[in-house]
Amino acid sequence: MTDRGATYPKFINYINNTTQQPLNKMINIVLFGKPGAGKGTQAEFLKSKYNLTHISTGDLFRFNLKNDTALGKLAKTYIDKGELVPDEVTIKMLEDEVSKNPDTAGFLFDGFPRTTAQANALDAYLVSKGWEVTATIALEADDEVLVQRLLERGKTSGRVDDQDESLIRNRYQEYNEKTAPLIKYYKAQGKYFPVNGIGEIAEITSRLSSVIDTL
Ligand code: ADP
Repeated sequence: MTDRGATYPKFINYINNTTQQPLNKMINIVLFGKPGAGKGTQAEFLKSKYNLTHISTGDLFRFNLKNDTALGKLAKTYIDKGELVPDEVTIKMLEDEVSKNPDTAGFLFDGFPRTTAQANALDAYLVSKGWEVTATIALEADDEVLVQRLLERGKTSGRVDDQDESLIRNRYQEYNEKTAPLIKYYKAQGKYFPVNGIGEIAEITSRLSSVIDTL
C-alpha cells in the first residue's frame, strides 16, 4: 500500500519546483566581438553581476601555454601566427570546461564559438544537457579603433599576438572569414543582440546588462 502521507508532500514539492523554476532558468550568454572589442573586460563585470561561469577560450589557451602543456604547445603554433586553433581541439577544451561546472547558474562564453562548426558543437552539447544558448551579445567597434587598442594592450600585456600589426590584421581576416558568419547564424535563431562597444567601460557594462535583464 502506498504511504500517501509521505508521497503527497513530495508531489507538492515537485509541483512547486517545476512551476516556480522553469526548466531552462539557466542564462547562457555568448559574448561576441572582434579581437580587442572588450569581451574579457566586460566578462569580468558580468560574471559577478549575474553569477555566471566565465569561460574564455583565449585565457584557457594562455594558461596552457604558460604551463607548457601539450595543448599549449599545439595552440602556440596557431596563436603565434594570428590563426584560429583547429576546431576539434578548441571544442574538446570547451566541453571539458563546461562539464566541470554542472551546477552553475549559467555560462558566459567569451571567444567561443568562433566558427560555424564550433557554434553547431556548442548547440549540440548544451542541448545534450537540456540547456541552450540564451543570447549572443555582440560588442561592436570599428576595426581601426580596435587595432589601435590591441597595439596599446600589447605594450603591457606581454601577448605576442598583440605586438605585431600584421598578426593583428591576420586575426581580423580570420574573424571576417570564419567568425562573422555566426552573426547570421544567431540572427536566424532570434538570439543576436548588438551593442555599441565604444564608450566608458561602465557605460558599456550597462548596455550589456540592459540586454541581459530582458532575457
Ligand atoms: P582576441 O583578443 O583575438 O579576441 P583571445 O584572447 O580570445 O583573443 O584568443 C587568443 C587566440 O587564441 C586567438 O587569436 C586564437 O588563436 C586562439 N583562440 C581563442 N579562442 C578560439 C576559438 N574559439 N577557436 C579557435 N582559436 C581560438
